[in-house]
Amino acid sequence: MNQALIRGWCPGARRPMRSGDGLILRLRISGGRLAPEPARAIAGIARHHGNGELDLGRRGGLQLRGVREGDFSAVEAELAALGLLDADEGAEAVRNVVASPLSDLDETARGDAFALAKQMEAALVADESLRLLPGKFGFSIDDGGRFGLTGVSADIRLRLMQDGVAVSLGGDSQGILIRTEDAVAGALRLAHAFLDLASRIDPPPRRMAALVRHVGAEAIFAAAGLGRESVMLVPRSDVAPLIGAFPTHVGVGLPFGRLSADQLHLLADLSASNLRLTPFRAVLLPGVSVSVLPRLAKAGLITQPDDPLLAVAACPGAPACGSAITETRGLARRLAALKPDAHGTWLHVSGCEKGCASSAAHAVTLVGRDGGLDLVLDGRPTDPPRHAGLSPEAVEALFRSGTFEK
Ligand code: SF4
Repeated sequence: MNQALIRGWCPGARRPMRSGDGLILRLRISGGRLAPEPARAIAGIARHHGNGELDLGRRGGLQLRGVREGDFSAVEAELAALGLLDADEGAEAVRNVVASPLSDLDETARGDAFALAKQMEAALVADESLRLLPGKFGFSIDDGGRFGLTGVSADIRLRLMQDGVAVSLGGDSQGILIRTEDAVAGALRLAHAFLDLASRIDPPPRRMAALVRHVGAEAIFAAAGLGRESVMLVPRSDVAPLIGAFPTHVGVGLPFGRLSADQLHLLADLSASNLRLTPFRAVLLPGVSVSVLPRLAKAGLITQPDDPLLAVAACPGAPACGSAITETRGLARRLAALKPDAHGTWLHVSGCEKGCASSAAHAVTLVGRDGGLDLVLDGRPTDPPRHAGLSPEAVEALFRSGTFEK
């Protein structure tokens, strides 16, 4: 474990990160599909070796929290027995692929995003030279249907289309169309082009969006041998509602992405097939009827699409995170209750400037700094605040007053 325990590193199962409540181990569940039996086993690991809590990350990774350092070897052995441990840290880190969750059930999907994700994972692991990619560098595979991946952070984005796969870079809305059978090889060539072009810049960009700002998307496609003549506009698709009961699935939201071991166990027990872990703080149960919703709600999971908690983001904060300046989620809950009819994520409460819960700008962002809370309007945690050094009580008073003007 030794050098693996470096604060600020993206945690993995092979490479844990130390936090205020113990070790964090992030499991990259292949294709985002988790069968009931390993889900129950993970719940058991969380209970016996951790603090009984898990997080569903913004790329669909499942994090065990509060794992005791002395239990790390036992946890690794149990994960290996479940087939959930990569061969080494490098393989785990590079296997950073998120896919649309329901491409096998959604009739609007253009193809099998899961199968493509599995191919992509295998190709990434096999190409050792790609282990030089930065830790957060990732791939997304959007099935082109109702359950797209709009808003999910990715460096190389594939979207299944009627007549091939659209490939785009970072958050770019321009892309190229390639044949489906060439999609994985094309994505890997783009990853190599990123490494090559980024290495010529000082300091090297760490994400594709930054490289696009430096050299432009066309230069990157050209470096990958993917011709500029095929450049096309990639249409955006909105994410369909996930929470509640639908013909394809029952979906539950996780308050702040947090899931207890007991809740995970319940989801596994109620699931008719693989759980679908999404990058939207939601878990989907395919083929399950509406009758399970009351049990899920009683267990503390979000079952109503208009629940105010879905409209706020908050990182673990203090005391769970050692970097946190302030408590976050209790305050976020209280503030969410003040705006019960909100749509979209309007509030982000961040325990420090790092902004782990969201990289987007929000109408209101509260960030722990210098022992108090700074309030940013229409921005991110690092943006200049409208108010600084507030106590939680002062923040609540401001929200109740209905105005953030000084
Ligand atoms: S944003 Fe939150 S979780 Fe991330 S480092 Fe800061 S306090 Fe910790």
